[in-house]
Amino acid sequence: MNIALIAHDRKKKEIVDFSIAYKGVLSTHTLFATGTTGNEIAKATGLPITRYLSGPLGGDQQLGAQVAAGNMDLVLFFRDPLQAQPHEPDITALIRLCDVHNVPIATNMGTAEVLISGLKNGAFSFRKVVKSPESND
Ligand code: PGA
Repeated sequence: MNIALIAHDRKKKEIVDFSIAYKGVLSTHTLFATGTTGNEIAKATGLPITRYLSGPLGGDQQLGAQVAAGNMDLVLFFRDPLQAQPHEPDITALIRLCDVHNVPIATNMGTAEVLISGLKNGAFSFRKVVKSPESND
């Protein structure tokens, strides 16, 4: 599965700790991330991660494009609900695209825990069926 990891600044420690805790399962998948989040997770875990631009510079949109193209199976997005983000429209667009394409997205650690469990127990096999093709349908 292709997994996207994103965390706002005050949630970076949380996503790093989460990635360390689930390094075993994450290492069996292909990881993508926004720039700074990817750097911090890679540094802490040694996991290979394809890094896009930093979120405020367009990284969320780059990940959104992968969601739209059917290339992303899971998005783990540790949002900070208590701080305004300059790229709020990009964040909304990413979440919207996940809804459009039925891509599971966690916006907090609690949901991420549940989805990671799903990864381990085969709940994501539906992705092989619904993966949207790059078409205009
Ligand atoms: P960052 O971007 O990983 O580059 O900090 C995340 C975001 O703010 O969307």
